[in-house]
Amino acid sequence: MWQENVSRSGRNAIELKSPAELDIMRRAGAILQKVILEVVEAVRPGVTTLELDKLAHDRIKQAGGKPAFLGLYGFPKTLCISVNEEVVHGIPGKRELAEGDIVSIDCGVKLKGFYSDTAYTVAVGKVTPEVERLLEVTQRSLALGIEQCQVGNRLGDIGNAVQVCAEGAGFSLIKDYGGHGVGRALHEDPRVENFGRPGTGTRLKAGMVIAVEPMVAIGEGDTEVLEDEWTVVTRDRSYAAHFEHTIAITENGPEILTRVD
Ligand code: MG
Ligand code: MG
Repeated sequence: MWQENVSRSGRNAIELKSPAELDIMRRAGAILQKVILEVVEAVRPGVTTLELDKLAHDRIKQAGGKPAFLGLYGFPKTLCISVNEEVVHGIPGKRELAEGDIVSIDCGVKLKGFYSDTAYTVAVGKVTPEVERLLEVTQRSLALGIEQCQVGNRLGDIGNAVQVCAEGAGFSLIKDYGGHGVGRALHEDPRVENFGRPGTGTRLKAGMVIAVEPMVAIGEGDTEVLEDEWTVVTRDRSYAAHFEHTIAITENGPEILTRVD
């Protein structure tokens, strides 16, 4: 997310994290995952997106972390909540979720100077079979992208795995936004595209930490930004899903920092 802002971190080289730094990021990720699972549990018809935001804010504070998005680039809330045709960067407010909606919840935690970043899209009550398939395919594309997060692989291997999965299912990738490095800044180099050719792009090294975050639409993948200057929607207003994890590249394979076992 906030792909256009990646360069604002001023970090042009890809930073490798030390074991001690990874340990902090692991703790930030554990807080984040507990919080977001609680928010996901609270999703139901009638709940407002602002109520979900307050829950996330309170839980992050109670756990000793900082809401990573609050105030970042001027964003006013703890969560980005994007409903139905909204893709990313939706601002929580008075909207009540309704049966049949899908809601994308994107959250970040800062702990001791380091960030973690994750997102889930969940169905509100019963959704159509096509929308259900959108959620399954997007989540699977993330899992397949993560499988490619191996030392010696390249960024194009990740993007290709995501792309083949999403497009193979008949859906479109949203290409205007993508993943990113994570560390002392929420958005660091490199940009992690959700498309690409195998064997191309930056080679992955142990100590890199990246957010992989496919965004997939039922219709076309083109987007526009609403008048609030934040909310990204599909141009054709088809529903879109978004899943994200923060991944450490290690000699032992990908470590999902935003997963609690
Ligand atoms: Mg992200
Ligand atoms: Mg995110």
